[in-house]
Amino acid sequence: MLVCPDDLTVLENFIYGDTPDETALRSLIQELFSLGEKFDVSLYTLSNTHDIRPLVLRTLLTYLELSNHLKGGTPFYAQYQFKPLLDTQAILARFEGERHTFLTSLFQQARKAKTWFSIDLDQAAATLNTPRQRIVRALDWLGEQQLLEIKVAGIRHRYQCLNQPDSLEALTTELYQRVLAREQAEIHRLQQVLDLITLDDCQTNALAAHFGEQRTQACGHCSGCLKGKSELPPRHTQSINKDILCAAYTLRQEQTDVLISARLMARFLCGISSPRISRSKLAKHKLFGSLENISFTEVMTQIEQSG
Ligand SMILES: [Zn+2]
Repeated sequence: MLVCPDDLTVLENFIYGDTPDETALRSLIQELFSLGEKFDVSLYTLSNTHDIRPLVLRTLLTYLELSNHLKGGTPFYAQYQFKPLLDTQAILARFEGERHTFLTSLFQQARKAKTWFSIDLDQAAATLNTPRQRIVRALDWLGEQQLLEIKVAGIRHRYQCLNQPDSLEALTTELYQRVLAREQAEIHRLQQVLDLITLDDCQTNALAAHFGEQRTQACGHCSGCLKGKSELPPRHTQSINKDILCAAYTLRQEQTDVLISARLMARFLCGISSPRISRSKLAKHKLFGSLENISFTEVMTQIEQSG
């Protein structure tokens, strides 16, 4: 087995990168519970607006469903894109009367990019004063007839607000505690791997026990059985370069909407990206990842102390 404790820093950073900042959670909760009883959201937009990674956002929404605050519905596509496979006039010429008028005005609702036209379904339905379903059926049908090539885009998720929380702040704190607990549990799981490797006993039995199987007989062929306790090389620690910290504080003055907390500054310095960091192009900044070899908690603690 090849084990290098210094690699923990990278593995841990995957975990730390998934923990949203408390302000991100607060603004997410505020938005979700200001949208009324029935609403739909784009997870992509939410993820960007609140600087929460998409998978983590899904987990948070699931938490809110499990706590009976929200109820998820069937997702739908807000946008259709199409590319005419025949000349548009030739397509329209195949229809008469009301259908011709309907399709003509539907095509007029489309915005053309380079080769694809896109239609915002809700907007088109409102403008044409027609059910959204009719537009979807018409476009799908034209697609089936090989008159248009169709793509769907802009998936939106429906939710119903079942219970408005008594206190948005209390809910934010609760969720934040939950993501921190998840973070600690994940970090602990990494440590468990090291514990297994350095175990002064049968490792096969310990691994089987982890997955629920109790074995009493030592296997006789694992390194624990053959050699006893293994020693790992120490995990190196480096001191944090003060100049980098100073430069980061200066940058924080300019990037007030990105580097808003010790956690986000630590993320940036450890080279852990987030939707907001990528959008602000900060991932290309020379300080990004400048402390990537130092453990995240150490960097964050240092920033908290000197901040
Ligand atoms: Zn063994």
